[in-house]
Amino acid sequence: MLCPACEHPLEETIAACAKCGFSLSQADAQFGAVLQAQPRLTDLQGNLSKSSRTSVLKATLEFEQRFPTIPFTTLIHAAPEGTPYRPYLFWLFNRSGLHTALEKAGANRHILLWIDPDACHLSAILGYGLEPLVPDSIIQESLAAARPLAQSGQVAQAAIAFMRQLDLGLVNLQSQLPEIFGWSPEGTWSALEDEMDPREMDRADGILTY
Ligand SMILES: [Zn+2]
Repeated sequence: MLCPACEHPLEETIAACAKCGFSLSQADAQFGAVLQAQPRLTDLQGNLSKSSRTSVLKATLEFEQRFPTIPFTTLIHAAPEGTPYRPYLFWLFNRSGLHTALEKAGANRHILLWIDPDACHLSAILGYGLEPLVPDSIIQESLAAARPLAQSGQVAQAAIAFMRQLDLGLVNLQSQLPEIFGWSPEGTWSALEDEMDPREMDRADGILTY
């Protein structure tokens, strides 16, 4: 992953960025008391009407039914003016109580969408368990689908548009896997052995063992 402050490559196990010194404890000192997030939807400042809340929660439940290992949370929260977005979102993702102890590091497949309704800012962050698998283009396309709605004040519709586009992106990603692996449903190990030249089999030198 990249450092949320300076985008220098960051080792997951290293506590602070080697280039700029960013760390969660430095962010704690910089950003102060952290909000406590509720999974699926957090709107502590009450930006959403009751019916909008219901719509976002319904869309989130549907998303999680389609992708049961991906918990999804929309955070609607106006950050203090001048807050640096990337480090702030990284800090919220890690400190706002969204994850259980079992969901640390590679087991974390959470997606957090943050909408700042005052600044019309949208960004999203993925858990370490999804980061290597989901290309950034999918997240950018989902943000692009949501942005015009957020900018016209339709915050709930923006969150729902993000989830719909993300759903399309993830389904498309899954459909590409056979092509990426060159997977052939007809090919089997025994069929490959039948086709193998007997002299090749004799020459097996232990690189492949099965
Ligand atoms: Zn850095």
